[in-house]
Amino acid sequence: MEIKRLHLASLQGADGRRWPVHGFVVTRGGDAVLVDTGVGGPQQALDDWRVVNRSVADALAELDLSPADIGLVINTHLHFDHCGQNAVFKHAPFYVQRAELDRARREAPDLHDWFDFTGARFELLDGDTEILPGLRVIATPGHTAGHQCVVVSADDGAFDLLIGDAAYTPRVYADPASDKLPPGQASDLPAWRDSLRRVQALGPDRVHFCHHTDVIHH
Ligand SMILES: [Zn+2]
Repeated sequence: MEIKRLHLASLQGADGRRWPVHGFVVTRGGDAVLVDTGVGGPQQALDDWRVVNRSVADALAELDLSPADIGLVINTHLHFDHCGQNAVFKHAPFYVQRAELDRARREAPDLHDWFDFTGARFELLDGDTEILPGLRVIATPGHTAGHQCVVVSADDGAFDLLIGDAAYTPRVYADPASDKLPPGQASDLPAWRDSLRRVQALGPDRVHFCHHTDVIHH
């Protein structure tokens, strides 16, 4: 399996700095899986976050891929910067934790047109699930109630963790006990810390972030 990172947008964090927004394509043979689709949502949200957006199709084109090549989509969670271009992939199923879809329908009705449009096909997951051989998700509640991370295993046993927003940055990953977390990092602090400790205990060989360009190597 091969992991390729997409640059999908940048936005201004609550700390005043520009944050990147990354998605990932995981390919194996002819299969291509997309993890998170980038930014979309009401204009007000794009203005509030000072989004400089890209189309996910343009980002895929840099990898010589088109949206039609994506067979399935995994959303780590349903915030506007992770599912905002789901509608580009109407042909593909969206693998989402059931708890996350429930949360988003409850808390973010303004994003309805972006993740819950007519014809959206969800594969609802209840906890840790193998999606394809060597590709699985692990439930990591805390950032949101139904957040999940993606684990990509190599044949030699090494594995990569696509951490989603379970940690925004390497610094947060290294020190989940810090009392100086970025705003929005955890909606449920005890659950979030438990989840982060759990993924750390798995011992990933590499950790890839959605909002930071550094990759942690162990
Ligand atoms: Zn988020």
